[in-house]
Amino acid sequence: MSRTIHWPSTTFIQSVADPKLFPDIDLPQIAVAGHSNVGKSSLMNSLFGRKGLVKTSKNPGCTRLLNLFDVDDQLLVVDLPGYGYARAPKKEQKRWITMIEGYMANTDLKLVLLLLDIRHGPKDSDMQLIEYLNEAGLRWLPVATKADKLTGNNRGKRLKEMFDAMGLSPIPTSSLKGMGIDKLRAVVQEEAFRSPYAGLIPDIED
Ligand code: GDP
Repeated sequence: MSRTIHWPSTTFIQSVADPKLFPDIDLPQIAVAGHSNVGKSSLMNSLFGRKGLVKTSKNPGCTRLLNLFDVDDQLLVVDLPGYGYARAPKKEQKRWITMIEGYMANTDLKLVLLLLDIRHGPKDSDMQLIEYLNEAGLRWLPVATKADKLTGNNRGKRLKEMFDAMGLSPIPTSSLKGMGIDKLRAVVQEEAFRSPYAGLIPDIED
């Protein structure tokens, strides 16, 4: 039987400054990662169908909190701090990536959504995170944001380049136009409730 998530029934739970103090919440967990200004807050608000629930940082690059959201009492979505803010000192940037990796290493994540601006593709800091995700054996999915900024051919070309760089095809989305949001919801739902035995045993038809 497939579950249905009512996305607008999302509530903010709390912010966590230290991954070691992450609360014990018995829900399938997914994390959302991306460069600062990639459009993460906008995309999460679209995903939740709740304008303004996820706050856009007024000081990009200065947020170092994990923000936890309960989706319909069925899913825990963790908003990770945006990394790679150009004006932040290198040492500080490294500390954020280390914090993100520290959190990921110590939790049972079903999926990491990695957001990438469709115009820019993966940057060095994204590639560093991808390397970590692959080494740690975590499931992750690239999501191209701001797809409305490119049209037809250019969009397809950029998506192909992103696939070539990462080995996975990003889902094109636009928070502005509501594009790709239903698909993203469907993928998240499928991954969050995927049986750990999926693929290991054949489906039994009843
Ligand atoms: P965050 O820093 O990753 O949380 O990014 P925000 O959600 O605050 O978005 C950063 C900027 O990109 C803002 O100026 C948004 O208005 C803009 N933006 C976000 N999503 C989209 C989108 O789908 N299309 C367009 N054209 N602009 C977007």
